[in-house]
Amino acid sequence: MRKALADLETVACNLCGSTRHTFAYRAPDRLFFPNEFFTVVSCDECGFGFVNPRPTPAEMAKHYPAAYFQAPPTPSSDRYFQRRYSAEAAYLRPLEKPGTHPLLLDVGCATGGFPRFMAARGWRVEGIEVSESAGNIHDFPVYRAEFQEIPVHAPTYDAVTAWAVLEHVHDPMAYFRKAAEVLKSSGLFVFLVTNFESLASRHLFIEDVPRHLSFFTRNVVRRYLDLTGFTLLQEDNGRNIYKAVPVHWLPFLIQTRLRRRPFAYQDVPLTKREFLQVHGLARGWRSSLRYGVYSPASAIERLFFPLIETLQILRKSYGISTYVAQKR
Ligand SMILES: [Zn+2]
Repeated sequence: MRKALADLETVACNLCGSTRHTFAYRAPDRLFFPNEFFTVVSCDECGFGFVNPRPTPAEMAKHYPAAYFQAPPTPSSDRYFQRRYSAEAAYLRPLEKPGTHPLLLDVGCATGGFPRFMAARGWRVEGIEVSESAGNIHDFPVYRAEFQEIPVHAPTYDAVTAWAVLEHVHDPMAYFRKAAEVLKSSGLFVFLVTNFESLASRHLFIEDVPRHLSFFTRNVVRRYLDLTGFTLLQEDNGRNIYKAVPVHWLPFLIQTRLRRRPFAYQDVPLTKREFLQVHGLARGWRSSLRYGVYSPASAIERLFFPLIETLQILRKSYGISTYVAQKR
């Protein structure tokens, strides 16, 4: 236990430096270490959310095993990635002009799918990936370092993208600053983050802690951009790139509204997939029935997801937001 504690660090707010914060929730590394719990807090001054205490950068490597990156490709995952990359590419269309080959830096490029997609559209591409588990890339330049440590110090790129990356980094402020340093004037910084103001992020345990370390609200993002020399052009709250389905929404409502008790991680029912795994069941109507008996609320709430997601998007409270910012 003491060993585990020694690898954690207690930190101040990355955005405003305050050390005053409020407990938000506690959750484990559900993917790889289901018995290791982490606490998420929100800054009393600015609303930024963060895991605190958190694994040090060295300790974090164990939470990114190769299995995190290497899902074997299937025809349906291929279709999924093509759809996702084209939704991401749409944000860079204003920079695509006939006969030009703008330069993109994709931060957190993993196995390089998005830069390759953009190269096929005529872009020159570079990437950054810190995790060694992501594997080697040979067809375009990739920096193996934190963004702020790459040896580029002049306005170089037409666009910097970071798809679901800023949640993962220990020092988001350094990333915003570095994006401003390496972008050409009027260049675009396009990034997607989870929405800390959403029910899913704040109360339904969808955040992938401790791989997700930082949690952003709309105001938090505006403040980061303001401090680092960006103008916010666009914010899209929605599910065009990643989904944040409000799973456990009904168990949450029952617990907090009817029973008037807080909804803790221990109250979260197994997902259907986990339930089948735990009980060694195959898919089928018998299994569905057994799951329905185990957690009626989970079985019923699915009917309402399309409606709830649509309402959340209309109210800009969906779990995912994409921001387009321009260097001033
Ligand atoms: Zn703060």
